[in-house]
Amino acid sequence: MTRKRIAIIGGGLSGVALAAQLARRQPRPRIVLIERSRRFGRGLAYGAADRAHLLNVRAANMSLFADAPDHFAAWAKARAGLDADGFAPRKLYGAYVEHVLRRSGGRFGEAIARVRGEAVACMGADGAWRIGLGDGRGIEADAVVLALGHPRAQRFGVFEDAGVRLLDPWDAKALRRSPRGDVLLLGAGLTMVDVALSLAARRDGVIYALSRRGLAPRAHHEPPPPRHTEPIDLPLPLSEAVRGFRAAADAAARGAPWQATFDRLRPQTTALWRRLPLEAQQRFLRHLRPWWDVHRHRMAPQVARQVDALKQAGRLRVLAGELASAAESARGVSVQYRLRGGRARHRVEAAAVVNCAGADMDITRSADPLLRQLLGDGLARPHPNGLGFDLDEHSRLVGAGGQAHETLYAIGPLTQGAFWESTAVPDIRVWAARIAERLG
Ligand SMILES: Cc1cc2nc3c(=O)[nH]c(=O)nc-3n(C[C@H](O)[C@H](O)[C@H](O)COP(=O)(O)OP(=O)(O)OC[C@H]3O[C@@H](n4cnc5c(N)ncnc54)[C@H](O)[C@@H]3O)c2cc1C
Repeated sequence: MTRKRIAIIGGGLSGVALAAQLARRQPRPRIVLIERSRRFGRGLAYGAADRAHLLNVRAANMSLFADAPDHFAAWAKARAGLDADGFAPRKLYGAYVEHVLRRSGGRFGEAIARVRGEAVACMGADGAWRIGLGDGRGIEADAVVLALGHPRAQRFGVFEDAGVRLLDPWDAKALRRSPRGDVLLLGAGLTMVDVALSLAARRDGVIYALSRRGLAPRAHHEPPPPRHTEPIDLPLPLSEAVRGFRAAADAAARGAPWQATFDRLRPQTTALWRRLPLEAQQRFLRHLRPWWDVHRHRMAPQVARQVDALKQAGRLRVLAGELASAAESARGVSVQYRLRGGRARHRVEAAAVVNCAGADMDITRSADPLLRQLLGDGLARPHPNGLGFDLDEHSRLVGAGGQAHETLYAIGPLTQGAFWESTAVPDIRVWAARIAERLG
């Protein structure tokens, strides 16, 4: 019997999680993991991390295997003496993902073939797929999983029009080499926190963080709330769900921290999201998302203490407002903004501006050759809510004609529009197991 050939495009965390699941199956399929960067298993989150960058999820919940939830905690304990309730350095987590890939690949790497190269096309041919690489090589597969990770960062017309180059928050070298002086960070989420901590450790000056609402991430509760609390389900429509959630959080706050309410909702979030009509998803994204994000994606308590100290020392100022203009100046970049609700313009003279606003999830705006080809050939279409791919309930791509492909799947950040909670490790590992089960 010929073994099924499964190609995974993208060798970051999602690709490795899936390859590891497939490698466990009997009979084992032929697994090819395709990665365009130098390193397999690191991806965006665990590749460029600074020593000071910590995970924002406790070690106890970061196993790559849903059926072995203590896998990472045990590894981190043995390797670095880390406590299961602690927040590991992201670099250490990257080493764990690499370890899982090595282990799953077998003694001689025979179980998972690693191919270094950029996939630029994926075409269906005779019931199979042919993946084209940028250097002209081709790979045949019976099934393909797109684990492409995070799309490029959001763009800002104000800076593009002025010809000002924004710094990449994960380009440590560029941040280190940027001129001395105040710095402006665009965005106020967890990426802003990472960059602010890195910059503050190495230089003087004020760090400004500008976002529409000026909402910064909240902290995890210390001590950790009890892990296995009763799940909550919420009624629809959206307004009822919000009311129900608030009531649950208020009630919980009398006996447990509000953070626990999010944990209790987690097992239900995807089902709830999929039951929401498109118009309600769009309303949620427009009005509630900023609040959801800062409560749901939380900082480790020790990181929160560092952020508070920077704010109190006047070294970090989080501003709620909108960009008005930008121009190159003698000190770097002169940026004007309006505070939320006001009309007056204020100015920051920044030595550098860092784009911490996150990925642009609208794949129709992507310049990525593979995405352009998939969309152009009608093999993929954008999710109508604007976040990543349109997918069926098994995470298979829905083509332009509205039909899901039998053997073309996606995993990771580009599945957010379809499932909402699908971009962090506790969700990715569940999808990796499910997809492997269907494919294996
Ligand atoms: C800064 C940051 C911190 C995070 N911290 C946490 C945390 O503490 N806890 C948690 O649970 N989650 C965290 N997350 C979320 C989660 O772990 C990430 O979303 C995760 O990295 C997703 O992995 P991925 O493999 O899908 O994407 P990525 O890590 O982005 O990897 C995608 C890979 O695909 C490759 N690739 C893309 N296109 C092609 C192509 N055409 N050909 C070949 N290769 C290609 C890329 O080079 C890349 O290596 C964090 C995310 C970020 C960004």
